[in-house]
Formats: sequence, structure tokens, C-alpha cells
Amino acid sequence: MVNCAKCGIFPCYKGEVNKLPTNCPMKTCPDIYEKASAAYQESSGQLACHSARVEAAGYRVWPRLREIMEFSRLAGFKRLGLPFCVGLRREALAVTKILESNGFEVASVMCKTGSRPKEELGLLDQEKVRPGQYEAMCNPIAQALLLNKTKTDINVLLGLCVGHDTLFIKYSDAPITVLAVKDRVTGHNPLAAVYASHYFEQKLKLT
Ligand code: SF4
Repeated sequence: MVNCAKCGIFPCYKGEVNKLPTNCPMKTCPDIYEKASAAYQESSGQLACHSARVEAAGYRVWPRLREIMEFSRLAGFKRLGLPFCVGLRREALAVTKILESNGFEVASVMCKTGSRPKEELGLLDQEKVRPGQYEAMCNPIAQALLLNKTKTDINVLLGLCVGHDTLFIKYSDAPITVLAVKDRVTGHNPLAAVYASHYFEQKLKLT
């Protein structure tokens, strides 16, 4: 199995291809790199170029939101989809205003759209966040389908839950990037649990 995380020496980063470890995929799967190179010769190559240019132009200067705008401008993406979580509705409005003030058209859809009860998914009352109360299910498929209908050029994920983002990505016609992921415990900064693993040790164990 590919396991770059355990490489430890990362010679690919510096072009030192004579130092590749034995289980390096560059040694075991050379055909993959040929396929990838061929794909970059098609439309994916343009996106890769735009991404690299944005990375270089704003390196350690631009926040991700600026990078998304710069990338979209280079790629010619004018109509941006913003699927967002109810918990980030204030942020969604703020982001919409920033995007619009920079000339983008924004179509936003909140996760609770459709207002379907969680029971429709087969959930039991005791499986809800607040048993005994009405809880609308998150509806990432409807979010994706609505943005597909709007023909967005790219969809920018804002705080969808784990799994809901999975479904949105599955159903979205447009390419996707992520502004923020949902992590209620860390202020939507999931790596905080890694950086402060001594505090999160118990919480990072499956029971
Ligand atoms: S050298 Fe090979 S194994 Fe190491 S990080 Fe690069 S691709 Fe992965």
C-alpha cells in the first residue's frame, strides 16, 4: 500500500530520484505517473497551472479566501456555489459579500434546505442531537443538485459536516474547493487536535 506519510526522507520533494525508498510508488507504479502526465496535457493541466501560479503569487501572504478568488479569476470561474452549514450562516453571508464585492456571482445553499425530518433517513429519535425535538436533516445532495441547476463554475465548501461533504462532492457537477471544514470543537481547525494531541489524546481514540 502507498504510504508516503511514513517515508521520512521525501526525496521526491527535491528531485533526488536516486534516493527513493524501496516501497516508493515512483518505483512500484511508474505507469501511474505516465497517466497523470497525460491528464495534465488535457484540461486538468490548466487548473494545475492556475493553482501553482496562485500558490507562488500569494505564498504566505494571501489567506485561502483570497487564493480561491485568484484561482477562480485565472480559471475564468465567475459563478461560485457556496454550500454552507447552518452553523456557519453568518460566515456564509460575510463570505458572499466579499466574493460579490470582488465581482463574483454567488449562489449559496444552506445544509438544512428541504427541511426534511431526520426520521426520513431512518434515524431513531434517540439518535438525534436533541431527542424529542424536530431536527431537519442536512441535505447535501439537494445542495449539490441546486447548484448543478444553477450551473455554478466551481463550488466552494463552507463547513459541511464529515460525510455530508462526501455526499456533496459525489453529486456536484462543478469542480470543488474547500474554504473551511466543520470541526465544532476546534473552531473549524481540525489540525488543532493534531498540534495539541496531548490535550486531545483521549478524544482521538475510537471506543
Ligand atoms: S519519495 Fe516516494 S515514498 Fe517518499 S514521499 Fe516521495 S513518493 Fe512518497
